[in-house]
Amino acid sequence: MATRPDPPLRIPLSVPHLNGRELDGIARALASNWVGPLGPEVDGFETEFAESVGARAALATASGTAAIHLALRVLGVEAGDEVLVSSFTFCASANPVLYQGGTPVFVDAEDTSWNMAPDLLADELDRRGRAGRIPSAVVVAHLYGQTANMAPILEASERWGVPVVEDAAEALGARFGDRPAGTLGRLGAFSFDASKMITTSMGGMLVSDDPALIQHARKLARQAREPVVHYEHRDVGYNYRMSNLLAAVGRAQLGSLGHRVEARRRVFQGYAEGLADLPGVTLQAEVGWGFHARWLTCIRLDPEHAVADPEQLRSELWSAGIESRPVWKPLHMQPVYRDRGCPQVGGDVSERLFREGLCLPSSSSLTEEQVGEICGVIREVWHHE
Ligand SMILES: *Cc1c(COP(=O)(O)O)cnc(C)c1O
Repeated sequence: MATRPDPPLRIPLSVPHLNGRELDGIARALASNWVGPLGPEVDGFETEFAESVGARAALATASGTAAIHLALRVLGVEAGDEVLVSSFTFCASANPVLYQGGTPVFVDAEDTSWNMAPDLLADELDRRGRAGRIPSAVVVAHLYGQTANMAPILEASERWGVPVVEDAAEALGARFGDRPAGTLGRLGAFSFDASKMITTSMGGMLVSDDPALIQHARKLARQAREPVVHYEHRDVGYNYRMSNLLAAVGRAQLGSLGHRVEARRRVFQGYAEGLADLPGVTLQAEVGWGFHARWLTCIRLDPEHAVADPEQLRSELWSAGIESRPVWKPLHMQPVYRDRGCPQVGGDVSERLFREGLCLPSSSSLTEEQVGEICGVIREVWHHE
């Protein structure tokens, strides 16, 4: 790490973008005295969110990670089970498999979308299927605002009857064809962490077109309490509910989703124009099958032609008070999984992405001038070498 003192951080990677109506929501929730988890704000948020993504049922949760964990629980993932998971993603896509005592099997990314490679998934499902070792589920992550190539992923999974969970934590507002991210698999999980497209400070949502799955998840999220007057428990549950106060914030934020996606796409466009002529710099492409919500703009630096590597560039930006961040380190490289001997399918593509990728500031509140300034710092690095 740098020995010089840290400069003041002026432009963070991705910050919450409030619209002013959050306070009204919180005031309404406080005035109603629904201050705990559960309440009319939670009910309203679930209904409005389900409507906005076109899912039949939704459950508000304490976090995106909790939503993924509940998805695996209601699909019956148990100790000793195997679950195929994207390797190029955040640890929260795979940790719930470990919570269940199962083993994640990591599937590499493809160069085009940076998401799970459908051909690798199909081969692995066929190989396991023929050997009578059908995995319990597939967890596919949609990174940085873009969906994976869902058609072949669903086709391969359906061939072996394996349910697909979409980790759409980074892809709220994205579409595969005309279908919103998170609504193509059996269940979809979203996150409202402070850095995400919209936020409740922390929180998540689980959606499905199967209301029975959501109903089961709802029970598990409330300590699996049985519907009787006293406290009766036959199953292990969790306290994974969302606070009614935070749901009020979520409802206010949801109203701005369209604007937030537009703003982040504009940020991307600013970088695309500002960096177009720099040798060795490419941006994560918008692949033909869908609509990229551009949660984060990520660039890739070709080691043969780029003037700097991602770490040099990150450090230059940091000196200017600008936060950038390496792309996800593939999970098959993470000690927590490697030390447990979790298997992997392929791995070269995500390892190369990790060596060459960098996430740039992408808040929806970034101004055109700020994007221009960031491009200016990068251009200076290119012209000084
Ligand atoms: C943010 C994120 C999550 C987890 O969301 P939390 O709300 O922080 O638990 C899961 N998967 C991916 C890919 C994410 O980026």
